[in-house]
Amino acid sequence: MPDTTATPTAGGITARALHAADRRRRDTAHPPTWRDQRWAERAEACARELAALLGITPSQVQISPDYTRAYGDWPWPLLTVTEPDGTTHRFLGAHNNPDQIFTLGPCPACGKQAPLGWLRSLADYGAQLDATALSDDAFDPVPEFRADPGHTPTCPHAPTD
Ligand SMILES: [Zn+2]
Repeated sequence: MPDTTATPTAGGITARALHAADRRRRDTAHPPTWRDQRWAERAEACARELAALLGITPSQVQISPDYTRAYGDWPWPLLTVTEPDGTTHRFLGAHNNPDQIFTLGPCPACGKQAPLGWLRSLADYGAQLDATALSDDAFDPVPEFRADPGHTPTCPHAPTD
């Protein structure tokens, strides 16, 4: 226990720990996420990997279960980073695997959010932001792009079954 009677500071260790415990208690969804120790450990590892790639601290990465991309009982963590100016960046820990951090962005065909490319370096994200990675010649999405449940039903990349 902290050696203080002060009110927890927003963003401090006490406040974040209390929030994490509350989030775990409140997780009643199926499939389970925060109350599943392995899911939580891997999601937090994804956030640490993303933070290292972006050059930020892991506490700046907000983790939420992406039930759109829940393959079986294993939702992918949606990783969101919001900058002080309000700019939001979204990524996925594909298969809840910290070795598979994907960018999330608009499908070139339907415009809906889909996993687009690997994030192995900051340059990978920059090439998506300046659209050079999305040109007809360069677009080489991750295999999970095709048949991702985020596409519209009429998108040529939508699931076929
Ligand atoms: Zn699409």
